[in-house]
Amino acid sequence: MVWGIGAAGINLYHRVHGGFTGRHWEFGVRSYSALIARRACYSSLNVLQKVTEIFHEAYGELRPRAPAPVMHVRFYPFVSINNTIRLRQGEIYARVSDLLEGAPENVLHAIAHILLAKLYRKPVDRAQSARYRRYIASHDISAKARLVRQMRGRKHIRSARGHHYHLEEIFDDLNRRFFHGLMGRPQLTWSRNHARRSLGHYDPAHNAIVISRVFDHPRVPRYAVEYILFHEMLHLKHPVKLRGSRRCVHSREFHEEEKLFPELERAQKFLRMV
Ligand SMILES: [Zn+2]
Repeated sequence: MVWGIGAAGINLYHRVHGGFTGRHWEFGVRSYSALIARRACYSSLNVLQKVTEIFHEAYGELRPRAPAPVMHVRFYPFVSINNTIRLRQGEIYARVSDLLEGAPENVLHAIAHILLAKLYRKPVDRAQSARYRRYIASHDISAKARLVRQMRGRKHIRSARGHHYHLEEIFDDLNRRFFHGLMGRPQLTWSRNHARRSLGHYDPAHNAIVISRVFDHPRVPRYAVEYILFHEMLHLKHPVKLRGSRRCVHSREFHEEEKLFPELERAQKFLRMV
């Protein structure tokens, strides 16, 4: 089911997870430029306490007579502006995009209201959804401006050294741990933009491994970056037979060897969430 709130690029949608007893609602803006708006910020306990209070306030307004359930609210590094809520065993779990961490209180209140209204099947207040929409729209515009500046600024710079992770350092470490240090180092670069067309790819024409810049972020655990790079290193070791092909082909041996990565499951789980 898709919920439109009447602005380009903004959707409210509802998804029921298979095998999951509670209800899960999420709404967000899927926009490419939102990716670039990621700041290196972190939520202090104070901020989280404040946001949880805001959720309680919004709950009280929506359901004045019902006792408030336990609420777990946190900021979450979604790939785009995204907010989710679910009810599990009588407790509320809400995730607010970390892109909204610095948003004013009335915007956070609007988000809490929209999520809780959806969860409890109450009408969404127009003023609240308008407030959220306006904030996102302005946020989006400034993000676009930043994107343009950054693209121009680093037109020719493609580097293994990211803001948070250095691919050469990770490569050398993986090479030692899994390949007896025998793998010749290809060119390693973070992708030029934040598009997440793929996690990473090996480009045989340039003997280069390119990893999506989205993962050069403090919220991305090192084991996830290691796993993406390890996967691409296995492509070097198990070359695709078709010349010039960029297809991602995984043989049985490839999969067997991939299992040697100790945090495989954790990394794949993390990557499914982003
Ligand atoms: Zn692959």
